[in-house]
Amino acid sequence: MTDVQTFFAEKLRLPSPPAIALKILEAVREQENSFEDLARIVSVDPSLSARILKIANSSLYGLAAPVSSLAQATSLLGTDALKNIALSFVIVQEFQGESENSFDLTLFWRRAITSAVAAEMLAEKVKHKSKSVFVSALLQDIGILIFYLSDSFDYTMILDSKRVSGKGTCETEEELFSFDHTSIGEHLLCAWNLPEEISRPIRYHHSFERAGEYMEEARVLYYADHISAIYHSEHSNSKCETAHEGLVEHWGLSGEEADELIDSVGEKAKEVLGLFSINPGAMQPFSQIIQAANVELGRLNFTYEQVVLELKQAKESADKLAKELKDANDCLRELAVRDGLTNLYNHRYFQDCLESELKRSHRYKHPLSLLILDIDFFKRVNDTHGHPAGDYVLKTVSHELVKLVRDCDTVCRYGGEEFTVILPVTGAKGAKVLAQRLRRGIEQIRMEHDGKRIRITVSIGFSATDMCEREVDRAYLIEKSDQALYQAKKNGRNRVEST
Ligand code: GH3
Ligand code: MG
Ligand code: MG
Repeated sequence: MTDVQTFFAEKLRLPSPPAIALKILEAVREQENSFEDLARIVSVDPSLSARILKIANSSLYGLAAPVSSLAQATSLLGTDALKNIALSFVIVQEFQGESENSFDLTLFWRRAITSAVAAEMLAEKVKHKSKSVFVSALLQDIGILIFYLSDSFDYTMILDSKRVSGKGTCETEEELFSFDHTSIGEHLLCAWNLPEEISRPIRYHHSFERAGEYMEEARVLYYADHISAIYHSEHSNSKCETAHEGLVEHWGLSGEEADELIDSVGEKAKEVLGLFSINPGAMQPFSQIIQAANVELGRLNFTYEQVVLELKQAKESADKLAKELKDANDCLRELAVRDGLTNLYNHRYFQDCLESELKRSHRYKHPLSLLILDIDFFKRVNDTHGHPAGDYVLKTVSHELVKLVRDCDTVCRYGGEEFTVILPVTGAKGAKVLAQRLRRGIEQIRMEHDGKRIRITVSIGFSATDMCEREVDRAYLIEKSDQALYQAKKNGRNRVEST
């Protein structure tokens, strides 16, 4: 026994065909059976005869004039085609019933019958008509039904797994049961003694390239199923694309012809579903499906454009925020190093700046000088003219100091009415010259506050690295300048001293 046979024997409940189906099956198998045999079999079930007549008269076959007897129908459609139609009816009827779980039996037959109609019409259109195409397409997924009907399997497991993984039906079935529904389908139909021309295309309807002499039939089934899915699946858009591609690229139909074919499959399937007593559900006309797809596409495009726009705006506002943050941080950094009253660098900055300038001077063997200025008798200014006048003087002096020094020099407010000036690449000689210039400059300022004239002087003490014998540090240089300032005060103020 082959694997499939073992599988079938052990696991699957093989449905036996109903009595009337058995007879039809026999008739189908024996090609030489005549119309009389078929008429005899079918007449056992009057409703079956009526249905066969109805389908023969349906727009699916487009007969020139309506037929009123099986004999007439047979002469126009052929005995074999009628046998297959009869078989289709019997099988669909046999396997109808209430859906017990999430496997939707009505949907299964809705899709199968639409597929059969599509196959019949497609085969006709591409001139690959065969008498068994309708029944082949109808039963192409019968393997799924067998999986479902078998007690040992829960086909919903496959459906769930497929939904989660996004993989194809065959691949999922193979993974879970090591067979797919095409093998099961073929096996069942062989067990029912159906001819190869029905079962082989079914076996290969998902892999028509491997179908050998039945490649075209299998291909018709494949695309017929896609056309059916346009009407009955959630993935209408992608199925439509594949079907269209196949019709145009393989069979050379124009886009318009392909649309027309898909459209009339929908129309005719509705009619045929009625004959099979299968509720067509909410089957929409193809034009409406296309319209919905276009609306969806438009919505997607719109959404895409919207997303791009929103991203652009978000980026712009993020850039703007980043810029604002940078400005705010720059501002904070500046505030952190500036003195609020005079806008000169503050004491902390002075310490840092002196430290790094000293290091630089050591590294490059350049001299460096430090001036400390103190306003003479500043307390008197406050006392005489008031504190605001004192503030005004501090600001004016600061402004003047910045004006008088070089760009590379750094003026800081050391505290109170004391200032420091760091002079990079400047030895004692240069420092003295600059200190005198500052002293004179301050002395010459004519200030007026609240109508009161104010004049002040400063005392300056300085030290320079080239005046020291050893490599000096920040504290030492500050101390030296401070001592010099003290000397300047002691020696009469408004003067410059060094140590
Ligand atoms: P000396 O010539 O010896 O330096 O005398 P002085 O009066 O300048 O020195 P003293 O240290 O006695 O006084 C400094 C004054 O500076 C005292 C203080 O009130 C004033 N002062 C310090 N900071 C400020 C300020 O921000 N604004 C104003 N208006 N006055 C300040
Ligand atoms: Mg002072
Ligand atoms: Mg002072």
